Amino acid sequence: MHAVPITAKKSIADYAEVIGEKHYEELRTLAKAAKGRSMLHVNATAYGGGVAEILQNLVPLLRDAGVDAHWAVLDAPPAFYDITKKIHNALQGMKLDLSEAEKKLFLDVGRENAAQLTDADVVLAHDPQAVALHHFAKDPGRAGWVWRCHIDLTTAHQPVWSFLKPFVQEHDASIWTMPQFVRPDLKQKVLIQAPTIDPFSEKNRDMPIEEAREIVRRFDVDPGRPILLQVSRFDPWKDPLGVIDAYRIVKKEVPGVQLVMIGSLADDDPEGQEYFDRTKKHAGGDKDVFLFTNLDGVKDREVNAFQRASTVVVQKSLREGFGLVVAEGLWKGIPVVAGKVGGIVIQIQDGVSGYLVSSPEECAARCLDLLRDPGLRKHMAAAGREHVRENFLITRDLRDQLGLVATLAKVGQTQ
Ligand code: UDP
Repeated sequence: MHAVPITAKKSIADYAEVIGEKHYEELRTLAKAAKGRSMLHVNATAYGGGVAEILQNLVPLLRDAGVDAHWAVLDAPPAFYDITKKIHNALQGMKLDLSEAEKKLFLDVGRENAAQLTDADVVLAHDPQAVALHHFAKDPGRAGWVWRCHIDLTTAHQPVWSFLKPFVQEHDASIWTMPQFVRPDLKQKVLIQAPTIDPFSEKNRDMPIEEAREIVRRFDVDPGRPILLQVSRFDPWKDPLGVIDAYRIVKKEVPGVQLVMIGSLADDDPEGQEYFDRTKKHAGGDKDVFLFTNLDGVKDREVNAFQRASTVVVQKSLREGFGLVVAEGLWKGIPVVAGKVGGIVIQIQDGVSGYLVSSPEECAARCLDLLRDPGLRKHMAAAGREHVRENFLITRDLRDQLGLVATLAKVGQTQ
């Protein structure tokens, strides 16, 4: 594994104005209890996807709180990511027969990476990719170990879960986004902690609407016409083809509408390019459908701009662990129409802070409601932003993590 350099500096004091004095004081108290301890986060990729997004913001905040926090990413050959993507798909309900050779490679990567673990009071391993580290760690008893699952396991393919479960259970605790995701046969301390967004990151910081529109214009998208936006990896579970189908229905009623789909090609997602190509084909050369990736220069600032300049944010997932992009849209005061799945349902109160949908037709109908009614858009957006402020800002994650550091560190043993 290798360390991800943490260059960003963040100050918890800056967040007081967003979360209020009471929550800020609570953070300061927790920071005192965690100060001086060390924490290591391990995941599969430093770029692309929700986990990387959270860690790049959370680790600097943990440091500001006095925790010696680090982030490391696994080293693995491409074949490992082919396997872990299949495991991810199986945990979301697809059938999978893992061969003995695949299991061996999966475990070999765990063993090799565990040999490079650096000392920490608490280790937080994210998702199936990092689940076997504890098993192969030289002296796992020296640290408190937590496994955080960002995936919706409600319909997990049992044989694959059975393969992973013993590794999960070796941890002192596991963290899940929603109680419904926790497998009933898991015998372990379980914590429910939903992911969060950073209101001051480049992705979410305030940006004047004129700046946002200017950026959008640079990509030949017309900010003067309605924009539907989906920001997602190109992945079947994010249903990019269904988004295009919904857009086509909307287009019949609102001919000026444009569809923008932004999807980074993440390091640990081997299917990305293939699904990007399929999406492009499905768009069939429509001049009002725009597909962008990080390779076009669409990075955090640009995603921020597109989210702010859009009329409706769409997240038509068919399965979703959480869907940070939903919170990102709501926080920016943009109404969101999203799949009624996984962690999306705790972000959107249907009909209040957005709409939950289960088909392209429904998605199109709700987008049309919003496109036609600016008052409704404003009303929903305001409700959405408050819901995010209360539940899904990074300071909530920080609070939970400081609690973990204070309670799980095995004081004295790593000295
Ligand atoms: N993201 C991005 N550029 C893209 C696609 C996604 O910056 O082209 C970000 C997005 O803004 C969000 C994260 O990646 O912060 C995706 O997290 P989410 O939980 O929505 O989905 P995941 O990829 O983890 O399944």
